[in-house]
Amino acid sequence: MINLILFGPPGSGKGTQAARLVEKYKLVHISTGDLFRYEMGNNTPLGQQAKAYISQGELVPDEVTIGMLRNKVEAHPDAKGFIFDGFPRTIPQAEALDLLMAEEKTEIHTLLALHVPDEEIIKRITLRGETSGRSDDLDENIIRNRIDVYKSETSPVYDYYAGQDKSHSIEGLGTIDAIFDRLCAVIDAIGK
Ligand code: AMP
Repeated sequence: MINLILFGPPGSGKGTQAARLVEKYKLVHISTGDLFRYEMGNNTPLGQQAKAYISQGELVPDEVTIGMLRNKVEAHPDAKGFIFDGFPRTIPQAEALDLLMAEEKTEIHTLLALHVPDEEIIKRITLRGETSGRSDDLDENIIRNRIDVYKSETSPVYDYYAGQDKSHSIEGLGTIDAIFDRLCAVIDAIGK
């Protein structure tokens, strides 16, 4: 079993790379952003709760997010492993994830962090906003807030897993293929 965290600021290419990694390593992909968008699309109580935060580029509260993530992991008892994309985004989420993995008799093996400069992120998200239908991709102030929230609340998660010798920094600029190869090189070196 191999469990990966795909890490990096919004617009760093996590979703694109996760889709490829899923195909190659046959892992279950869990994107908390996608899960929230699904709930909002169906106007569920969870979606309604998340909407106010997401539309402002703020994080959905930990209790809500962790509960949703736990349900999703528990729904896949036979998974060969997981790719967590957009989770954990806070230290309490990382602690909850480690606990959940321990309950499942496994662990997080590696965190892969994609590095992309701020101005490139804003360009990419603005471009994505033209087709994604995401209101949080359309307003530059909201995009900048998401980057600020990443720096203040999420980037400490890199150090948290560095403390367990699990964090890897990956250059997030270049072709999709080149970045994919960089990610695979790290994963293959783990050899699980
Ligand atoms: P993403 O698709 O990963 O960029 O997520 C879109 C939005 O969903 C974020 O800006 C947050 O508002 C919310 N969200 C996604 N994942 C999390 C998380 N792990 N914790 C809190 N909020 C989240």
